[in-house]
Amino acid sequence: MSNLDLFLLMDDDRPVPQVPRIGEVRTRVALPASRLPGLDYALNPYVGCAHDCLYCYAPYVTKRPRAEWTVVLARTDIPQVLAKEIKGKKGMIGLGTVTDPYQEAERHLLLTRRCLMEMVPHGLSVSVLTKSDLILRDLDLYKELKGEMGITVTSVNDDISRTLEPGAPLPGRRVAALSRMADQGLNAYALVGPLLPLLTGRDVDEMVEALSSAGIKWVMLDRFRPRPGMFDDIARRPGGEGIADRLEKAHRAEDYRGLESLVRRKFTEKGIRCVNAF
Ligand code: SF4
Repeated sequence: MSNLDLFLLMDDDRPVPQVPRIGEVRTRVALPASRLPGLDYALNPYVGCAHDCLYCYAPYVTKRPRAEWTVVLARTDIPQVLAKEIKGKKGMIGLGTVTDPYQEAERHLLLTRRCLMEMVPHGLSVSVLTKSDLILRDLDLYKELKGEMGITVTSVNDDISRTLEPGAPLPGRRVAALSRMADQGLNAYALVGPLLPLLTGRDVDEMVEALSSAGIKWVMLDRFRPRPGMFDDIARRPGGEGIADRLEKAHRAEDYRGLESLVRRKFTEKGIRCVNAF
């Protein structure tokens, strides 16, 4: 029985999806060159993502239909393909550039973990980004790799997170994970992005306070850049029409232009360095 068969049979405390929607896909290239700033290669053990964030850019970047994005395809052979490709490579690997490498499937399939194990002997650097505290499982390996560990925090308001990131762990778990990584001396940062147009001044204050208490030294800011068709895709979801409308109006409003400078100022006042994502 393969790891994938095992995952399909397991029905434990997985929050979403209730019925696993997962398939398998072969890896053609494990380490394609990345065009993102600061990254030499991209590594994505899954295609699609069960975190199902309404604002996710990845379906538009990968040209996969938005409606299929939560049908996760596992690249079950990626550790073996990576082992062959990694020889002689130098530079920074972006782990999770168009998927979340610690979505629920990873708890059972361990593809991300097995890829990290392949990287350790080669001395490469890794820049990982996730919304899940499952990343804590692999701290032993990150301690041996150079690089940076990012957790996305778009707000610490559970209602906002439940609405816009319905499949992802709630923000409190992400902040706690950042705190643990910072405590252990790892280069941990929060990606505050996309900067949600729905945030109020109070949401901003609570987020800045929580991340400051977590002990991280820096955050990455990324503005909300809706892709063509994104609001229509959100509106097509059950109950999504109102959310799409609120997001679009808030994004167009004058106030949104001031949100980034407000967030930057609040973090700076707490001694947290802000860098731009792009
Ligand atoms: S966690 Fe990232 S890849 Fe997954 S749905 Fe959310 S934004 Fe997209």
